[in-house]
Amino acid sequence: MPRIEKSSELGFCFGVKQAIETLEKSRLKSGSGKVEMLGALVHNPLVVQRLTGKGISVIQSVAEAEGDVVAISAHGVGPQVLEEIDARKLKMIDTTCPLVRRPQRAARELAEAGFYVVVFGEKDHPEVKGILGWAGGKGIAILDAEQLKKEVGRVPRKLGVVAQTTQIPALFTEFVQKLSALVLSEVAELRVVNTICRVTRKRQSEALRLARKTDLMIVVGGRTSANTRRLADLCSAYGVETHLVETAAELEAKWLRGKECVGLVSGTSTPAEVTDDVLKRLNEMAGLS
Ligand code: SF4
Repeated sequence: MPRIEKSSELGFCFGVKQAIETLEKSRLKSGSGKVEMLGALVHNPLVVQRLTGKGISVIQSVAEAEGDVVAISAHGVGPQVLEEIDARKLKMIDTTCPLVRRPQRAARELAEAGFYVVVFGEKDHPEVKGILGWAGGKGIAILDAEQLKKEVGRVPRKLGVVAQTTQIPALFTEFVQKLSALVLSEVAELRVVNTICRVTRKRQSEALRLARKTDLMIVVGGRTSANTRRLADLCSAYGVETHLVETAAELEAKWLRGKECVGLVSGTSTPAEVTDDVLKRLNEMAGLS
């Protein structure tokens, strides 16, 4: 019978907790006003479902807003979106995580100081789009250092580097080393700001600690959640059989066959109740309850 070991870092991170609380409090304060969320508040389908159940709808752009209150997600937005909200005279509930403001601020300061900003991150992720917005069009999001020359041609004289908050520190280090090797002879200045979130770092090191001693890892969270996917990537890269599940219903008993130890971790936007359900179901499958 496999033993089950759970991470010491489970449940919402403070950024997600704060985003949900801010949204709920402001919604109550705004009375009967309709609240529309600009994209998913956090990347977890169950959290979004709960919020839509409370009458908070999701829109993809400010132009789609029908009410008078728009909520910005924990991933933040660029200044252009804030201007659009202002131009339409909409009220705003800002749930941007304080740790997402760090790369936003760094991108703005670097761009203002004449640096071209390289974001180590996924270009289509809302957080990354927001960070690039703060670079005022003087930036790019890439995951491979070689892309820089391919995309921008001549290497800018001053290059600033920041990271999407949920990236893996070891990969960021590798990226920066490769980038330095490629451009150092051409730039006047290369400035790196480590903007990976400390909560993400803790979750990743806990996931690795468990991956080292288990032969099956279960990662609980939304499939669209960057930090959840990163946990699964880290564990599978370590060579451990890894499954990402959004709910307990997705668990399969055959995964546990022949296993000695199962590790359980969760993304920062995964409700604690969902992880509890998964743990309960795993214990049942392992014959421990
Ligand atoms: S994972 Fe980090 S950056 Fe993202 S919401 Fe949580 S605390 Fe903020």
